[in-house]
Amino acid sequence: MSIFEYAPAPESQAVVTIEPEYGLFINGKFINGKRHFPTVNPANGKKLSSISQASVADVNKAVIAARTAYVKVWSKMAPAERAKYLYRIARIMQERAREFAVLETLDNGKPIRESRDVDVPLAAAHFFYHAGWADKLQYAGFGENPKPHGVVGQIIPWNFPLLMLAWKVAPALATGNTVVLKPAESTSLTALLFAQVCQQAGLPAGVVNIVTGDGAVGAAIVNHPDIDKIAFTGSTEVGKIIARSVAVSGKSVTLELGGKGANIVFEDAAIDEAVEGIVNGIFFNQGHVCCAGSRLLIQEGIHDEVIEKLKHRMSQIRVGDPMDKNTDLGAINSGEQLSKIKELAASGVAEGAEIWSPNCALPDKGFWFAPTIFSGVTQAHRIAREEIFGPVLSILTFRTPAEAIEKANNTPFGLSAGIWSEKGSRILWASKHLQAGVIWANTFNKFDPTSPFGGYKESGWGREGGRHGLSAYLASGKAGK
Ligand code: NAP
Ligand code: MG
Repeated sequence: MSIFEYAPAPESQAVVTIEPEYGLFINGKFINGKRHFPTVNPANGKKLSSISQASVADVNKAVIAARTAYVKVWSKMAPAERAKYLYRIARIMQERAREFAVLETLDNGKPIRESRDVDVPLAAAHFFYHAGWADKLQYAGFGENPKPHGVVGQIIPWNFPLLMLAWKVAPALATGNTVVLKPAESTSLTALLFAQVCQQAGLPAGVVNIVTGDGAVGAAIVNHPDIDKIAFTGSTEVGKIIARSVAVSGKSVTLELGGKGANIVFEDAAIDEAVEGIVNGIFFNQGHVCCAGSRLLIQEGIHDEVIEKLKHRMSQIRVGDPMDKNTDLGAINSGEQLSKIKELAASGVAEGAEIWSPNCALPDKGFWFAPTIFSGVTQAHRIAREEIFGPVLSILTFRTPAEAIEKANNTPFGLSAGIWSEKGSRILWASKHLQAGVIWANTFNKFDPTSPFGGYKESGWGREGGRHGLSAYLASGKAGK
């Protein structure tokens, strides 16, 4: 059999200008921080730029700017006028889509195919969708005259830097709030490009402020007395710290946290489709996905067939340069995350699960982990209980539908689940019994701004997206639990 090789198809970096140093975006202007830290390209370990580390005083300046903009401009503006800014931002994001995609891939390590086809179009879609809501809030069941909170503090992770920003900023602005946002330390560049888009769109100064830096900046936002609402996406560990901090403050809060999603394949499933869904569920974005299908539950009768087909399919996954348009699996976002994945994978081997990866050469520089599956996993194994947040799948089996549900729900998380079955009644039955905020049937990792997203249990409080997501940004809405 001849081997079909792909020629390199690298996306050009020429479309992006990366400054040697970036400031903080406060009150419509970039202000240089006193200290800086590097951001690197995880695919080769090379430094891309220096990012400002905000101080507590800088966060305070950002909050003052956001409060002033709220009181003097944003809260007085007619909702239809507010909508125009959101539409303008959405259109500029579309116009500058290639720039955003290339920058996201360079800073995050995700394949250009994904940043180009998923992250950036979905981010623009969030602005378009929420722009449409800005002048219709009083007809949406939130009461006659729904009011925003005022100033919201938003903290986001590194796995979908621009998309998580859009999930946060678009509903906040549409409902009339102003924003102080902190991107993740390792992936601030697209947020800073977004700040330039805010300038380009003529967004009034102070409506969006972006403060970069480490977890201390996040904590300064959470603890600032003049912030009315906190929206956080990140780990359950930090989510718990935030919940404790805001508990006594009267601030409203939404938390989008971790997950350990079950992807359940019933005997009557279309197996080839299910295999595609399994691959998408765990290898999309290197498995750095809170709602990843990281626990595969296969009904016993089809176990061997599914594993064989999955291994065959995994052998086709192209791992390597994220800027290559043919790449399926890019770099792990940081050395720290890579160590976490390696440690958990080692625990899987030590606890007796069987590890398998296809033959694939990993680049010498940067942070890489081959697509990996573990079979023979039991519910007691750490790799079945803890979020790995990498391209590692834990495979368990079940005999009856009831056992599948019991195993799927046997987790402290409750963010996502997948069901593969040709039988509609089984899909409806299973989705009724699964404790997960998002359930996909015969598909996986489908996102849309109109659809609410969020979790049960330790996966978080509240919903983002859709009409449900808007309520979290309204003082009259029922946010949180
Ligand atoms: P993380 O460590 O919790 O960080 C998230 C954000 O919080 C980062 O900006 C981080 O800053 C900041 N932060 C750290 N310590 C803080 C503190 N004490 N107070 C306030 N902010 C603080 O999470 P991560 O490792 O970056 O992201 C991965 C996690 O996010 C996973 O668990 C994943 O499941 C979850 N996630 C959930 C969703 C969802 O919608 N449910 C979506 C995506 C990701 P630094 O970057 O500087 O540390
Ligand atoms: Mg980076």
